[in-house]
Amino acid sequence: MTDPLDASPVRDVALDAPCPVCGAGGLRMRSMALDLPYFGDALQTTVLCLDCGFRHADVLLTREGAPTRHTFRVGDAKDLRARVVRSSSATVRVPEIRAVMEPGPRSEAFISNTEGVLHRFRDIFGFLARNANTGRRRHAAERSLDRLAAMIEGREPFTIVLEDPFGNSAILHEDAVAEPLSDKEVRRLKTGVFTLELRPSGPRARASP
Ligand SMILES: [Zn+2]
Repeated sequence: MTDPLDASPVRDVALDAPCPVCGAGGLRMRSMALDLPYFGDALQTTVLCLDCGFRHADVLLTREGAPTRHTFRVGDAKDLRARVVRSSSATVRVPEIRAVMEPGPRSEAFISNTEGVLHRFRDIFGFLARNANTGRRRHAAERSLDRLAAMIEGREPFTIVLEDPFGNSAILHEDAVAEPLSDKEVRRLKTGVFTLELRPSGPRARASP
């Protein structure tokens, strides 16, 4: 039987790294090339362990690499369509509502738009509005949900900040501002449990303890 992936532009390679969950060798990486506006080539990747079923989806930008902050001011409904590439190592913030999404086991990479980022925060605040352990926190989450609703409808401007110590994340809009992160800023950021790097010799995987 042939693997259906053989017929598609998906590439499947073996990684020289043990599985971060079960330690088995022979991790596979399936990747698909993307052509992103303003950024050029990128890879959408899924790392798989055939032994235990571990999966890790990510995005790698081939052009970047240095620690970078992208900031974009969403001023109107049109800006809600600006694309956002968030690798698993990026921290995403919407400072107006003190919303932060940090790298972690449950925080996957995505390619979306600025509205899609708001939807993800809406899910998080919706959970908090129902489940936070004090009434004050539940009310604060409800207030954030009201403002998120206004932002999603294009009635309230907001800012999206994307900070990635591996430079694999970006906001794809001509008005987005990209700037290097200082060493001090990089040290403050979480990096996630499992990261991939593109090197001239090929992709490398690294699992943090
Ligand atoms: Zn495994």
